[in-house]
Amino acid sequence: DSVTIMDIPFLNTTKDDFLHQYLFPRLADQKKSFVVTANPEIVMRAKEDTTYKEIIQSANYVIPDGSGILMAAKYKNEPLQERIPGYDLMLDLLKHAEEKGYSCYFLGAKESVNEKVVKEVNRQYPGLKIAGHHHGFFAIDDPEMAATVKTANPDLIFVALGVPRQEMWIAKHKDQFAKGLFIGIGGSFDIIAG
Ligand code: UDP
Repeated sequence: DSVTIMDIPFLNTTKDDFLHQYLFPRLADQKKSFVVTANPEIVMRAKEDTTYKEIIQSANYVIPDGSGILMAAKYKNEPLQERIPGYDLMLDLLKHAEEKGYSCYFLGAKESVNEKVVKEVNRQYPGLKIAGHHHGFFAIDDPEMAATVKTANPDLIFVALGVPRQEMWIAKHKDQFAKGLFIGIGGSFDIIAG
């Protein structure tokens, strides 16, 4: 159920299936998850940087975010079912979290953008529990930042630190968390903030 492109195994599914068959059950079981929404930029970086490649390969799920990935799969004669944009996934996860009472942490982007994201999310998902939020300009290995997120005890952690920092931060710190769906979502905070 996966298609490997330049050593990166992409889950071959649809957005709805990915949510209902994979992520929602794991959230219900409080199973930790690391999701990479990989675009060609991530694949190219992984090709050049073995450490980063290993981080991507360590994710529970890598999903194709970008038509370039779908084209590469088609070229290999192993077509992927559909493109799953990280932004769309984030909105669906926020809706589900609101319905189920799961708490969310928003980590990343400039301080003004980060604050706007929380405001917008509050407006669009008024019942959503916000565990906390913090801007994205800190050292990846800062233990206090990780401890702050951990103390907030979030069910979902949206990480918008750009490529490759977001995946590096998740890989470096997720082992000390008891639960959490960790997902790097690149420029999505900037889109939500408008
Ligand atoms: N970002 C961040 N910390 C950093 C670098 C970037 O929080 O040290 C944020 C940036 O403000 C933006 C997001 O990460 O909200 C994506 O950044 P960018 O578009 O540069 O990255 P990419 O598109 O390569 O993922």
